[in-house]
Amino acid sequence: MTSYAEFHRRSLQDREGFWAEQAALIDWQQPFTQVCDNSRPPFTRWFVGGTTNLCHNAVDRHVAARGAQNALIFVSTETNQERVYSYAELHAEVQRMAAALLELGVKKGDRVLVYMPMIPEAAFAMLACTRIGALHSVVFGGFASVSLASRIDDAEPTLIVSADAGSRGGKVMPYKPLLDEAIQLSRHKPAKVLMVDRGLAPFTRVAGRDEDYAPLREKHLHAQVPCEWVEATHPSYTLYTSGTTGKPKGVQRDTGGYAVALAASMKHIFLGNPGETYFSTSDIGWVVGHSYIVYGPLIYGMATIMYEGLPIRPDAAIWWSLVEKYKVTSMFSAPTAVRVLKKQDPAALKKHDLSSLRALFLAGEPLDEPTAKWIAESLGRPIIDNYWQTETGWPILALCNGVEKAASKFGSPGKAVFGYDVKLFDENTGAELTGANQKGVVAIEGPLPPGCMQTVWRDDERFVKTYWNSIPGRSVYTTFDWGIRDEDGYFFILGRTDDVINVAGHRLGTREIEESISSHANVAEVAVVGVADPLKGQVAMAFAVLKDPGKAATPEMALKLEGEIMKVVDEQLGAVARPARVRFVSVLPKTRSGKLLRRAIQAVCEGRDPGDLTTIEDPSALQQVKDLVAG
Ligand code: ATP
Ligand code: MG
Repeated sequence: MTSYAEFHRRSLQDREGFWAEQAALIDWQQPFTQVCDNSRPPFTRWFVGGTTNLCHNAVDRHVAARGAQNALIFVSTETNQERVYSYAELHAEVQRMAAALLELGVKKGDRVLVYMPMIPEAAFAMLACTRIGALHSVVFGGFASVSLASRIDDAEPTLIVSADAGSRGGKVMPYKPLLDEAIQLSRHKPAKVLMVDRGLAPFTRVAGRDEDYAPLREKHLHAQVPCEWVEATHPSYTLYTSGTTGKPKGVQRDTGGYAVALAASMKHIFLGNPGETYFSTSDIGWVVGHSYIVYGPLIYGMATIMYEGLPIRPDAAIWWSLVEKYKVTSMFSAPTAVRVLKKQDPAALKKHDLSSLRALFLAGEPLDEPTAKWIAESLGRPIIDNYWQTETGWPILALCNGVEKAASKFGSPGKAVFGYDVKLFDENTGAELTGANQKGVVAIEGPLPPGCMQTVWRDDERFVKTYWNSIPGRSVYTTFDWGIRDEDGYFFILGRTDDVINVAGHRLGTREIEESISSHANVAEVAVVGVADPLKGQVAMAFAVLKDPGKAATPEMALKLEGEIMKVVDEQLGAVARPARVRFVSVLPKTRSGKLLRRAIQAVCEGRDPGDLTTIEDPSALQQVKDLVAG
């Protein structure tokens, strides 16, 4: 067995040999002639000359050997549906959808915007697009018309696939009126809208533009639509980042490199095996949904669970009941979801047999130690943090236990993943920080490995300027996150580069203060931001959600609790890190993907305009902060 250190070293030093081997994990129609063309950095091209197809690799190639095996398991606790599609059935459904798209005029290279709830047709639509060489651009179903309109204008889709409605917590959320409004607002008008009618919300149809999927599907019941073999470098999709730090960026992904990277990650990171079941609790609107609900598990011949509903409805045992029922071997979720569960009775997590589960993988946000410990103890299964971005499409930092088993360290998403030459740099001087435990900007020396973004959609200049030109004197890819690497090569992410505050000359990561506050027994979740202060330059402000809000029911009680929390910070980090105030809210402002909107909280605290809020989950959360600041 190779050691992981050797595996990683080879991925960088014998890039061609290493990736040529990984490329054997997928099917090629035409073999590639060059593994990596980096003659025009940072526009790296992987598997040049090769032709393949994402949908073929995710669906068709499995039909012969595992046609009867589970491919897509759809569970909705919103509509109480449960439906299992075998690989053969998935193959048929995707061809029906592909035939409908072709009939409605979609061609290779066209964009198809997918604005859908978590229903099987959303996955069919994505796979149907890549099948025919069209690019999907999935927009999270929770977005309203303004966010949707800006994405329509950016992607300029020929066609939009949508549905009558989604549902959240038992409440029907109509999509069609929002879509109609968005199209009204957008400059670009799609020629066609393809509607999946779930029978949840009646909707009006625009004659000549809107088509119902059901009759088209019926018409193409026996459709045979061959996969369009595309160049490995042909774009497969565009997808927007979460917009946590500002205007979302349109990430463009290739085909061949992405398929290879996902297959390799399923094997070496996510501990998958063909024939087993993978459960990612994300949404198809996010990169995790693209890589690890739809493409990754299917490319690897696994069954994938697509879950529509909340993690705590009908009760906090729902996810774990699915793990037991479908013998899930790998599960993927986010710290934000774990924090929701944390407010529930941990007994619910123990009700089911979780012995099939090799690990619960978590990503998307810093996983603080109390939350990691709580979920590890409640489940009794290994927890594996991993760190990456919409831009990269698959993990940058993780434990590659499929190569060599390594111990987890609390608070660390692990080591640099194969293919990634992860480095730390001083943001001011551009000096590389090679020593242990030095804090710097996490960056990747090019070329980025297969699967990462090709460019910003239609904006090569923004790609270069934003990502490759921000560390002085260096041409490296910046993640915009702070980190350190310890003596064993484990990284710790300390927060985003714009989340550092400067109190009287001391530079503090808001993440460290948050982590300290979270260790107080009554704190479920907290956000810390730096606020301008005439005396100290900046001071830290904390907004916390309590497990037991009763303990801050009166102003006196709140003040007492605030004092207690400050004492915790004093003891752990020192008085310099003590927040000026700790205020209590019932909910924190987050993006739709569950990330804390610190920049919006900070702006409100400083009396500034909070900027782009198109991706905010609950505007009333920001109002609570506003009220506290005003009061
Ligand atoms: P935008 O780039 O538009 O501001 P975003 O960065 O939130 O939005 P995503 O691509 O969804 O968009 O998120 C990636 C970011 O999430 C990372 O850069 C990092 O800040 C954070 N992140 C992801 N996983 C982890 C993790 N395991 N630990 C710490 N932070 C993480
Ligand atoms: Mg980002």
